[in-house]
Amino acid sequence: MKISRKKFLALTGLAGSSLVFPGNRLLSGEVNKTEKSNSTKASITYKKIKLELGHTWTISRGSTDYKEDVFVFYEKDGITGIGEASHMTGAGQNAERTISELKKIIPVYVDSNPFEFYELTDKVNAKIENISPAKAALDIALFDWLGKKLNIPVHRFFGLDPNKFVNTSFSIGFDKPEVIKQKVKEADPYRILKVKLTNRNDKEIISTIRLVSDKPIRVDINEGWTNKEEAIRKIEWLAKQGVELIEQPMPVDKIKEAKWLKERAPVPIVADEAINTSKDIPAIAEAYDGVNIKLMKSGGILEAFRIAVLARAFNLDIMIGCMIESSVAISAAVQLQPLARWLDLDGPLLLSNDPYKGAEFRDGHWIMPEAPGIGINLPST
Ligand code: MG
Repeated sequence: MKISRKKFLALTGLAGSSLVFPGNRLLSGEVNKTEKSNSTKASITYKKIKLELGHTWTISRGSTDYKEDVFVFYEKDGITGIGEASHMTGAGQNAERTISELKKIIPVYVDSNPFEFYELTDKVNAKIENISPAKAALDIALFDWLGKKLNIPVHRFFGLDPNKFVNTSFSIGFDKPEVIKQKVKEADPYRILKVKLTNRNDKEIISTIRLVSDKPIRVDINEGWTNKEEAIRKIEWLAKQGVELIEQPMPVDKIKEAKWLKERAPVPIVADEAINTSKDIPAIAEAYDGVNIKLMKSGGILEAFRIAVLARAFNLDIMIGCMIESSVAISAAVQLQPLARWLDLDGPLLLSNDPYKGAEFRDGHWIMPEAPGIGINLPST
């Protein structure tokens, strides 16, 4: 299912003629004409940066000590927007593939009017249909540029209240009990813990955490359980240990089983691997209580917003999540945090060499940057 531009404008409140904030202007035909008449072509560059992890990261799909992300710079009219592509561990994504995809879609961005971003997104999707962090990086850079050009933060664009926030969870990667205890202690600044379970010693991991912390725990199974009866027994036990939600307990294609679980589970069941873009929502809506929206899955901010709008229409709660990524991608995701019931934005908090500064983490939550665009401090070029 795809939301039309007209419906999108109506849903977001951007369609009214009486609105005066600057974001409204970019959607009017008059401004588009002006932009076309005096525009120079955009210049787009990218670079790969190695991000070091504080701890080895292990989930059911594999382990890693570092991530290579690709940063994209969209420059036009003397203004530079920045975006980032991060990659899912063990899913065939990497910096080289992202760069080859960037080469395919950069010409679309160079030849398009940035203010016509609906059409631009459609043209990009025609070139690359699948999930692509390259699409996300360019979309983030474009929205950062648009915000800077209009001198408004991106959340203003979407009519969101910057003071509305929820605490973010912080991920404790799979490890030996002694290391898990240490990681939980190091997670002292965070109010909610998130744990990846790998199906090997789930109870031991949770019990180990409970020896040193009574914080709420969220559990991510990453499709790791295959038997629904066994899954509900585990969920009931986890709920008694203070686990407040379960993410993607069963494989994506087991929709009937997921619905069966949702009807019985004492805590919300949230889809992650089962939801990439808004098109996925209708098919999974009955089987989950919420959806985990990630910019790297959706292909950027615009589609993430579309997912949130549609999820609400289907009575799904919204989680906003991330990959392991720097302040660039996180500051972009933070722009949409007022939409979220649950937030799982810990990417930069897991890094030891975040190359950029953006949204600030304080008292368990992200402070919405009030700077234009996504709020990244870029050295002047
Ligand atoms: Mg997940």
